[in-house]
Amino acid sequence: MNDRRAFFRGLAGAAREAARPEEEARPEEARRPEGTARADEDARAGAWLDRYSRQLVLPEWSEAAQRAVGEASVLVVGAGALGSPVATYLAGAGVGRLGVVDEGDVELSNLHRQHLHFTPDVGVPKARSAAAKLSFLNPEVVVEPYQARFNHTMVEAQDLVVDCTDSFETRYAVNAACCAAGVPLVEGGVTGLNGIVMPIRPQQTACYRCAFPQPPPPDARPSCAEAGVLGPAAGVVGSLQALEALKLLAGLPALTDAFLQIDLALLDFLRVAVRRRDDCPDCSLRNL
Ligand SMILES: [Zn+2]
Repeated sequence: MNDRRAFFRGLAGAAREAARPEEEARPEEARRPEGTARADEDARAGAWLDRYSRQLVLPEWSEAAQRAVGEASVLVVGAGALGSPVATYLAGAGVGRLGVVDEGDVELSNLHRQHLHFTPDVGVPKARSAAAKLSFLNPEVVVEPYQARFNHTMVEAQDLVVDCTDSFETRYAVNAACCAAGVPLVEGGVTGLNGIVMPIRPQQTACYRCAFPQPPPPDARPSCAEAGVLGPAAGVVGSLQALEALKLLAGLPALTDAFLQIDLALLDFLRVAVRRRDDCPDCSLRNL
């Protein structure tokens, strides 16, 4: 118990130190009585500690991991069935800056699986609807909504991208952009009761195109509207994407040179090994 108290005391001190530069950047704050400023600083440090306490106590986590997550910029491409759990967990975990890309509007048929959007949001741009909920969840996170189609310039200056789209064209475009920019990526997809998750560290691990050199033919890739999808199935896949994203940001071991194939009808999880391809048009050094 004493060890636990000492652990939290140490973290509180570290959190105060981290809050100080921000304090110094506000001259109007500096003019306030010293005791008041100090009390505000202590309150902020206490809130930081309280908000992240359940992940800070994890043996796998650390203050350094929390700081790394807090300083990271992450782009979530798609604010739908996968983007909802991904963005929710990343905002909750304290990612510093979270971009949310989606060009679509909320539709009634989205609501059973896209939990960032509610019935009154029907007709509202998904990026804006998602950003509003995420800011409520964690006001410390800078949330940037982009009501736009994905383009490769969006991955620049990102520390990580999570692809939550349901389009093969976009998936390959995101993979190519991340490989070219050297930005880590967590790919994911779900249809019916099947899904995949694949973390990618460009030039270090196999990329999405190494695993799937060609997209399936159009008649072999039904959309969610055609094949259907259950909300919790998308929730499982999106949660695993968020988990792998946090591991990559925190420097913890993530799934490497493999994708996870998920069969939620049978609750079967299969790791499929993937080798980097020397001739990969996206990640091979010969092609970059
Ligand atoms: Zn590749």
